[in-house]
Amino acid sequence: MGKLPRIAIAGNPNSGKTSIFNRLTGLSQTVGNYAGVTVEIKEGRAERAGRAFRVIDLPGTYSLAAFSQDELIARDYVVEERPDVVLDVVDATNLERNLYLTVQLMEMRAPLVIALNMADLAEEQGVRIDATRLGRLLGARVVPTVGSQGRGLDEALEACAELLTGQADNPEKRPGPAPVTYGHMVEGEVARLALLAGSEERLAARYEPRWVAAKLIEGDAAVAARVRELAPEAAGVLEAEAADSARRIVAHFGADAATIVAERRYGFAAGAIRECVRFPSGVRRSLTERIDAVACSRWAGPVILAAVVYAMFFAVFKLGDEWGWLFGRSPKGWADALFAWLASAAAPLAQGWPLLGSLLVDGVIGGVGGVVSFVPLIFLLFLFVAVLEDSGYIARVAFMTDRPFRVFGLQGKSVLAMIVSGGLGGGGCAVPGVLAARTLREEKDRLVTMLTVPFMNCGAKLPVFLMLVGAFFPDARARMLLLLWGLSWLFALGAAWALRRFVIRGEQTPFVMELPPYHRPTLRGALTHAWERTWTFLKKAGTILLAVNVVLWALMSFPRGAPERSALPSPAADASSGATRSGDRRSAELGNSLAGRLGRLLEPAGRLAGFGWRENIALIGGLAAKEVIVGTMGTAYSLGEADHENPASLSQRLTADPGWNRLRALAMMIFVLVYSPCVATLAALRRETGSWKWPAFATLYTTALAFVLAVAVYQGGLLLGWGLS
Ligand code: GDP
Ligand code: MG
Repeated sequence: MGKLPRIAIAGNPNSGKTSIFNRLTGLSQTVGNYAGVTVEIKEGRAERAGRAFRVIDLPGTYSLAAFSQDELIARDYVVEERPDVVLDVVDATNLERNLYLTVQLMEMRAPLVIALNMADLAEEQGVRIDATRLGRLLGARVVPTVGSQGRGLDEALEACAELLTGQADNPEKRPGPAPVTYGHMVEGEVARLALLAGSEERLAARYEPRWVAAKLIEGDAAVAARVRELAPEAAGVLEAEAADSARRIVAHFGADAATIVAERRYGFAAGAIRECVRFPSGVRRSLTERIDAVACSRWAGPVILAAVVYAMFFAVFKLGDEWGWLFGRSPKGWADALFAWLASAAAPLAQGWPLLGSLLVDGVIGGVGGVVSFVPLIFLLFLFVAVLEDSGYIARVAFMTDRPFRVFGLQGKSVLAMIVSGGLGGGGCAVPGVLAARTLREEKDRLVTMLTVPFMNCGAKLPVFLMLVGAFFPDARARMLLLLWGLSWLFALGAAWALRRFVIRGEQTPFVMELPPYHRPTLRGALTHAWERTWTFLKKAGTILLAVNVVLWALMSFPRGAPERSALPSPAADASSGATRSGDRRSAELGNSLAGRLGRLLEPAGRLAGFGWRENIALIGGLAAKEVIVGTMGTAYSLGEADHENPASLSQRLTADPGWNRLRALAMMIFVLVYSPCVATLAALRRETGSWKWPAFATLYTTALAFVLAVAVYQGGLLLGWGLS
């Protein structure tokens, strides 16, 4: 019977494996020793509908961590002997614990059929399992069985035969179950390590790289030894990287890596169970499950989410800006004071070298400083987002939104990508968001997600919102940000729906949304995370932003002079002479610069949405990076100002400007929210889709939409008479 396809039966002790084995094989059993180990392995022959199989009864185990000899044998048989089918016998009355083993078999990408055994008992207890749905989620057939009576075994064998046919059709790729995902942070570590492991040919040919990655992070000695054997050169790097990953996980969660990875497997099982199983009322158990009963519920869930986000905005403004709890000032107050001081300190420079002075004061301090002064608020927002991520709440948000968002052509995994992009109202970036879409296996799902993540309020749009909301809606700041947050989702969902309907049609694949247990976030983990993101933000301000701002400053400063070059007073003289008159003069000069002319060229269009030529320039600059918008406006309004002795913040300048009002601010914020992704995001889109087609499409459709929305808001507002408030 050597040539027959092999079915290995795996499962927890007492799940009914032997009952099923006996029923399948009848009297044909033999007992043999496997690979020199003294543990007995029973084998037999099964025949159904003209097909014959060789069936192997593996030792019953709860896990495949290889802590015991039984575990090691079961695991080795699956990964080394590579049976054609693994029939995983699962006790339906104890799904959570039994699926833990299933998840580990999935990690190995064993060719899986799941026997949902003890189906009779489960029914008796009132546990209702949607086997079809569970099978779709796990990527394996799930067949209800009653092993003691032999019920369902024909179907189980049929499913095995079906899997074999699939393998025969596609000998290169064994049809495996869906990949196991590990959720926030751990998933990133596994994915990175799997990329390394996957590039080792001999290793990848034998073992699923994601399994190797997870095992190395867990510190599995047996797998590490196999890696050393199969990839002797890369083993050192792989193990060092795995140790690094483990260290980061420990720092993040304050528990050892093996525990956290195991927890994530349970989280994966818990997510699948929550989706497909209804328990009779009265058997809810752990604290996590009791919290989830409320936090993930259809009605309370969204309300809680909105409350959490609002509370976050509220706290950010109170702690960051309003309460002077840090030696008499707020953190934002200190940042403002610092830049005001820098500007006045640099002002005397303008006396001797007007151009250099202007570059420093208007270009660098007015531009970059205007953005950097928001860092305290941004850091706090990043910190709160990190706490929410680390606590496990984000996983609930993704779980909860999975079903409703499918209506719009998105799903829970897209939501995670959106949260990475700033979906909690800030603290993100669309570049990692585009990359995070990789967790979606189906190409079309990925594409829709990648094309809609740029609608989220990334960290770079925040300075624009914070500045304009601070200037024009000072008494409703948290509410305004909540509104912009809601709008960002509305636009993303609307765009996804339209894309699905008109551009990227196709089926959606189901996913398990993992539900790891809640964790108390560690201060160190959250601070590290928030600081990493803030540092990226600062680095960008010091490099790209600085460069773009200097270029834009130059565009706004040259050609100098005109209309009456010779008659112009030097900026140094301005401060002492009539400030208003020379201010007008400088405005005229600015309007005549290269940038000014470009801005004016766009005025007929921009005016419809309430934008002046300065805003036009700033928005063009924002194509490079959204932070540039506030920087450029800072430079433009500061250049137009004559009085460098008393530097005003951009917010103050705009409030004082008679041409500005709430309506104009609102139209501008909506435009910034929606219009073209920045260059870095477009480059990521290009990399991920392999063509310029999609980045070009993304730029055009978002900018067109942004323009239509901004014009509608502005013109609509004017009609309703809001413009004057
Ligand atoms: P193993 O440890 O996984 O090999 O499990 P066994 O096959 O020895 O079964 C354990 C116990 O569960 C035995 O008493 C079986 O009769 C019983 N059993 C197995 N399958 C079922 C089932 O589907 N329903 C019920 N009610 N009992 C079952
Ligand atoms: Mg047994």
